Amino acid sequence: MTAFPPLLGGNGTTTSARAPVFPADLARRIRWVGFDVDGVLTDGGIYLGDVVGRRLEFKRYDIQDGLGILMLRMAGIRTGIVTGRVSESVRLRAEELGVDDLVQDARAMKLRAIRRIGEEHGIGLDEMAYLGDDLPDVAVLRAVGLPVVVANATDDAWREARRFTLTRGGGRGAVREFAELLLKARGEWDAIVERYVSSRAMDVEPEGVVP
Ligand SMILES: [Mg+2]
Repeated sequence: MTAFPPLLGGNGTTTSARAPVFPADLARRIRWVGFDVDGVLTDGGIYLGDVVGRRLEFKRYDIQDGLGILMLRMAGIRTGIVTGRVSESVRLRAEELGVDDLVQDARAMKLRAIRRIGEEHGIGLDEMAYLGDDLPDVAVLRAVGLPVVVANATDDAWREARRFTLTRGGGRGAVREFAELLLKARGEWDAIVERYVSSRAMDVEPEGVVP
């Protein structure tokens, strides 16, 4: 059993100085990765206002995170976005990233939604990873095989996954950090990077899964 140093995490006031280490066998078991939105795919801030009488909501996403999600997809891992806040911005981002599963549930019944996804695709909770940052994520973090929290997680979320605390905050590269760590632990990162780079060096557009 590996001993992990105590971390000072919680509430974003401190961050883990060291990136988490995913055991290779656990990393290789993962077939589905889910992401919370606010505080994970974003820094938690929202821009909300009325423009010509119409309510508009904007969020800021990280482009390097997006490429991390693409790399997970290239590895054949199913991806999902699971949020308790319903917004058009999330629908657009999910579509742009080509994520497989999008759940926007205002009542934040996230675990129920993830169980359904698992049943539909024959994926067990122990084969799932999930990135969260706050209370609506706690039930999911307790249930999945690989629970992960971002550096800005609240104390309650952090306690559920302290062993796998990312060094980066939500909306600031946490998702990219996770994707790289997971694929490196599986021994797949270098090959996928090469596949991506090769696909961009071709004169014709690549076929297949390299979007
Ligand atoms: Mg959140």
